[in-house]
Amino acid sequence: MSVPDRIAELRRRIADADRAYYLLDAPTVPDAEYDRWMRELQGLEAAHPALVTPESPTQRVSGRPSAAFAEVRHALPMLSLQNAFTEAEVADFVRRIVEATGEARPAFSVEPKIDGLAVSLRYEDGLLVQGATRGDGARGEDVTANLRTLRSIPLALRMPAGEPPPAVLEVRGEVFMPKAAFERFNAEVIAAGGKPLANPRNGAAGSLRQLDPGITAKRPLAFFAYGIGEVRGFALPATHSALLRALGALGLPLSPEIDVAQGLDGVLAYHGRIAALRDVLPYDIDGVVYKLDRLDLQEKLGFVARAPRWAIAHKFPAQEELTILEGIDVQVGRTGAITPVARLRPVRVGGVTVTNATLHNADQIARLDVRIGDTVVVRRAGDVIPEVARIVPERRPSGPDGQPLQPPFVLPSACPECGSAIERPEGEAVARCSGGLVCPAQRKQALLHFASRRAMDIEGLGERLIEDLVDFGPVRSVADLYTLTLDDLLAMKRRAEARDGVTPETVKQGKIATRWAENLLGGIDQSRNTTLERLLFALGIRDVGEATAKQLARWFGSLDALMAADVEALLAVPDVGPVVSARIAGFFAQPHHRALVERLRSHGVHWPEGPPQRTAEGPLAGRTVVLTGGLSAMGRDEAGAHLEALGAKVAGSVSKKTSLVVAGEAAGSKLAKARELGIEVWEEATLLDFLRRHGRLAGP
Ligand code: NAD
Repeated sequence: MSVPDRIAELRRRIADADRAYYLLDAPTVPDAEYDRWMRELQGLEAAHPALVTPESPTQRVSGRPSAAFAEVRHALPMLSLQNAFTEAEVADFVRRIVEATGEARPAFSVEPKIDGLAVSLRYEDGLLVQGATRGDGARGEDVTANLRTLRSIPLALRMPAGEPPPAVLEVRGEVFMPKAAFERFNAEVIAAGGKPLANPRNGAAGSLRQLDPGITAKRPLAFFAYGIGEVRGFALPATHSALLRALGALGLPLSPEIDVAQGLDGVLAYHGRIAALRDVLPYDIDGVVYKLDRLDLQEKLGFVARAPRWAIAHKFPAQEELTILEGIDVQVGRTGAITPVARLRPVRVGGVTVTNATLHNADQIARLDVRIGDTVVVRRAGDVIPEVARIVPERRPSGPDGQPLQPPFVLPSACPECGSAIERPEGEAVARCSGGLVCPAQRKQALLHFASRRAMDIEGLGERLIEDLVDFGPVRSVADLYTLTLDDLLAMKRRAEARDGVTPETVKQGKIATRWAENLLGGIDQSRNTTLERLLFALGIRDVGEATAKQLARWFGSLDALMAADVEALLAVPDVGPVVSARIAGFFAQPHHRALVERLRSHGVHWPEGPPQRTAEGPLAGRTVVLTGGLSAMGRDEAGAHLEALGAKVAGSVSKKTSLVVAGEAAGSKLAKARELGIEVWEEATLLDFLRRHGRLAGP
C-alpha cells in the first residue's frame, strides 16, 4: 500500500473509531489499538510533512459535539495531551522542558490520569452557570442540567468570608464513574437482561450525555478538577499545584493522589508509585500526567496543534487488547460447575501474556454472541482473571455469501469428561455436570481437594499423580485410595509411561523405581488418623468450608449424629443458614455418600468423637427461651433453631429458670405464667428484628 493510501486508511479508521467512542459511547476497538493507529499516522506524517492536513486527527482534538445537545463555544479551547508510552519518551519530554526553560530540575505537578471525560464548569459570580463537554475542543455540548445532578460538583463556590467571588472562573476536570459503582450498575443491568456498559469511562460518558437529567442523576458519577479555562477577577497563583489547592479551597474536589515531583527521576518515581496503586484506587486511571508547575513557564512554552507543550500523559499498559478467539474449552470443576474458557492467540494485556480468558457461563456467551475465529477484546483489570469483554463484530470472518463462517457457540448438553447430562437449574447462571463422582474431572478435583493440606493432608499426592490414578489406576472414589497396593501403583505408572511413550532410565537398566510409591502409600496411611472436621471438609460438600466443618464437628460431636440431623436441626448450628443446611442434609440423604463414609471407616479412617458442644456462644448464651403461640413468619421449630444458633437453650415449659418467652398469635397459659413470674416477653416482631440484627434473617 502506498504511503498516501495508508494515511487515508488510518484517518478513516480513526474517524470511525472516534464516532463510536465520542458520539455513541460504545468503542469498537480497544484504546491500545486506537493508539497504535494514531502513532503510525503521526510517524508517517512526520516522515512526509507534505501530507499533513489541518483535518488530520493528529492536528486537532478528536470528538464532535452531538446535535442532541445545545452547542457551547469554549472561551478557551479544551485541549488533549501528548502521550508517552515509554520512559525514553518521558526523558525526551523532560529534556525539551529543560532546554526551553533553563531549569535544571523543573518542578512538575503530577496527577493521576483519570479515565473519564473532560468537562468545563463555568462559574459566574461564584455560581455554576454552565457545564460543557470537551467536544472537538472548540465547541462542546451543553450538559449543565446533567452536571448539576453530580453531588461532588458545587453549585456555588465556597468563598472565604468577606471575599467576593471571581467574575468568571472556568474549572476543568474529569467526570468519571467509580469502579464499585460501575460494577454495581452492570450487575443490575445484567440481572434485568440489559446490555452492560463496556468500561467505566464509557459508563461516565454515556451517563453524562443523557437527554434526561433524571437518568444521569441515578448514575453514580463523580468529578475531580485538574485545571482552568477562562478566568476574570481571580488572582492566579504562581504554580499549577498552588492553583489546584486554590480550587480545592473553593470546594472543588481534587484527586487525593495529586503531588509535586522534581525532574525526570521524580516524575518516574511518581509513575511507579501510582502504577502500584492502580488496582486499589477506587477509580480507573490509564496513566499519570506531568505538568510543568510554574505557570509563567507554561505560558512561555505554549501549545502544539492539539495539546500543550508543557504537559504529557505517561500511559500505563493497556488493560484491554485485541486478539483472536481460537477455540472454546469447557472445564468441569469439583462441584461439576461448567466454565467455558476462551483459548486465545497469545496477547500482552496489562503487562502479562494472556492465552486463556474466562467466558463465565452460557448467558455470557449468548450476550457476547461469541464465535470461534472472532476478534475479541480481552480485559484484564487488576488481579482478576482475564475475561472476554466483547467482540468486534466487523472483524468476524464471513463466507462469500456474507454469512458468518461459524455458528453461535452453544455449551454441550453432555459433560465432555464423562458424558453425563449437563443440567442448569432454573434461575441459576451456572450449569453443572450431573455425573458427580462418576465424572473423572469431578473425581480428580474431588481427590485433589480430599488430599489437600487442610483436608486429609495426604503427603505426596499431587495433581500429576491424581491424573494418573484416575486415568490409569483403580481409583474411582476417594475411598479407593485406602485400598491401593504397591503393585497397583507400579502398574499404573507403567500404563502412564506407555501412553507418554517414555521408558525411564531405571527401567532400561532393569530396575524399578518404587520409592515414590512407598512414600505415597505411607502418606495415605498416615491420613487415616484424622479429625471429624478435616473429614467433613474433605468430603467436599458444596458450601461447607473449613469454618463450617469445624462448627458442625463441635455441634454434633459425631459423624452419626450429623448424618441423622434433618434440615431443621442443622439450621440450629451457628453460621449455617437455610441453603447450607439443605446442602448438608441433601448430601447425606444420598445412599452413595453414606456408602462412601462407611467404606472410609471400614478402611481404617478414624477420628476422635465426643459429646456435642452447643453452649456458651452467641448473644443468647446461658439463656433459656420458651416459644409459645403461632408465629406468622416461620414455624416454631425453625424459630427455635435460630435461637439455639445464637446460643439459647430452647425449653418446652415456663419455669423460674426461663429467661425469655416469645409469644406468638393466640399464646395461652404459658404467656400467663410468664407474666406471673415477671419473665421478659417478646412479640414476634421483636424476635424477627433480633434475628435480623444477628444475621439470621435477610434484610428488613
Ligand atoms: P487522552 O484522553 O489520552 O488525554 C486527554 C484527556 O485526559 C483530557 O481531555 C482529560 O479528559 C483527561 N485527563 C484525565 N486526567 C487529567 C489530568 N490530571 N490533567 C489533564 N487531563 C486529564 O486524549 P483524548 O484526545 O481525550 O483521547 C484520545 C484517547 O482516547 C486515545 O489515546 C484513546 O486511548 C482514546 N480513544 C479511544 C477510541 C477507541 O475507539 N477505543 C477512540 C477515540 C479515543
